[in-house]
Amino acid sequence: MKNVPLAIDVVEAKTSKIDSVDFENLIFGNVFADHMMECDYKDGQWQNPVIKPYGPIQLEPSAKVFHYGQAIFEGMKAFKDDDDDVWLFRPMANIKRFNKSSVRLAIPEFPEDLFLEGLETLLNLDRDWIKKGFGNSLYIRPFVIATETGVSASPSNAYKFMIICSPAKAYYSGEVRVFFSDKYSRAADGGVGYAKAAGNYGAQFYPTNLAKAEGYQQIVWTDANSHEYLEEAGTMNIFFRVGDKLLTAPTSDRILDGVTRKSVLTLAEEYGIEAEVRRITVSEIVEAAEKGELKEIFGAGTAATINPVKGFGNKGKRYELPELENSYASFFKKKLMEIQYNKTEDKFGWRYLVKKD
Ligand SMILES: *Cc1c(COP(=O)(O)O)cnc(C)c1O
Repeated sequence: MKNVPLAIDVVEAKTSKIDSVDFENLIFGNVFADHMMECDYKDGQWQNPVIKPYGPIQLEPSAKVFHYGQAIFEGMKAFKDDDDDVWLFRPMANIKRFNKSSVRLAIPEFPEDLFLEGLETLLNLDRDWIKKGFGNSLYIRPFVIATETGVSASPSNAYKFMIICSPAKAYYSGEVRVFFSDKYSRAADGGVGYAKAAGNYGAQFYPTNLAKAEGYQQIVWTDANSHEYLEEAGTMNIFFRVGDKLLTAPTSDRILDGVTRKSVLTLAEEYGIEAEVRRITVSEIVEAAEKGELKEIFGAGTAATINPVKGFGNKGKRYELPELENSYASFFKKKLMEIQYNKTEDKFGWRYLVKKD
């Protein structure tokens, strides 16, 4: 293979859209910052990375991504502290997971150093899109799609890697009630549940709509074989608090290895909160709820950080959770945000300073 240039070409936007954006009333993931990164894979290698104004891309209708869903993505955030420094949270965990997802979808891995360098260059160009203040962030969406033309069902030999960024306010999703799935499944043994494969999400929309019609906002997926074990929510890992003990399922083929999840487990250990990582049955959670021992359920994921759950439904019965003064959910959210916004020491080395160029 001949070497191709991997220096990033930067084409700056002539004008910025930033003045047309109402940063006080952002809807999650609806507006995009001025620039994006793009890099194509062809002839067996990633080549010609470019950062350029955000805008449409052109693909042929026969591009394989449209037919076979060969596509994966990531979700990460950048935060600005009081001194205008910009920080990422455990970015290498996302970059490594991006490539793990790619491998499962037969997509060539993207060079880690080029990913990080491109992201930092992009964030520096769009620094003004990252607002200060707790809860404000820039949501980062890296993804890769299969671009080879032709509808034969075989892996593509051409791909497009991109990073787009969207300013976000504190994510408040309203009161969340979840439904324990007893029919549909998100992932199976040997499948792609652990990957951020595009198709995993599209496949959840229909069952989630059915749950919405019953007054639930999200589904907690159970194991596909028996529907007896609680696994995770659609885009979040899930935690239960029974008494003062925290419970979450182990990661597996079916469960995404969330960065927020593993950070919560580390913080639990640090602050002496007993946590068990093991399979959790629907029946033990229902029983704990009936005895008044189920104190909390919360989701953990980059978009919302920690998302408290107000109640759940199982087999036609509804359960409400108590209002707590000192919830684990708010404790972990605060601890995570203090690290993310550079308000506290970073004992675990999770913060990553975006180098100014
Ligand atoms: C992205 C995602 C999560 C959360 O992962 P984070 O790294 O914490 O953002 C959990 N479950 C699923 C299915 C996901 O796609």
